[in-house]
Amino acid sequence: MSRPQYDDQNIFARILRGEIPCTKVDECDHTLAFFDIAPQAKTHILVITKGAYVDMADFAAHASEAEQSAFVRAIGRAAQKAGLEEGGYRIISNTGADSHQEVPHLHMHILGGEPIGPLRAS
Ligand code: AMP
Repeated sequence: MSRPQYDDQNIFARILRGEIPCTKVDECDHTLAFFDIAPQAKTHILVITKGAYVDMADFAAHASEAEQSAFVRAIGRAAQKAGLEEGGYRIISNTGADSHQEVPHLHMHILGGEPIGPLRAS
């Protein structure tokens, strides 16, 4: 399967270039974590890769081992820095059309800070 085309004008690419501000939670060589602008829980963080990956499928197939391990560690670190470890949290990464992914740059949502209910609304 061919690689999806990456749109370098997406909002997270612009945040990475410093063209749009964000409220940073954590950063490393491969990742940036910041608060979601429209939180869906008391605490809602986005962890993004600095590399240009469209979604999890693209990242899983094409990212280096260093990028992949850094992403996983960044998720844990951001949750810990935001004080979510004790109460727990949910991570979600929307991938592709069926998931309703809006921003075509890989990101993991971290939701917590309060009970956030079942995985899907019934
Ligand atoms: P998704 O639907 O999984 O692509 O999620 C995209 C997320 O990006 C949504 O939760 C938005 O609220 C969030 N978002 C969009 N623009 C910004 C921004 N400038 N800063 C922080 N979060 C944003």
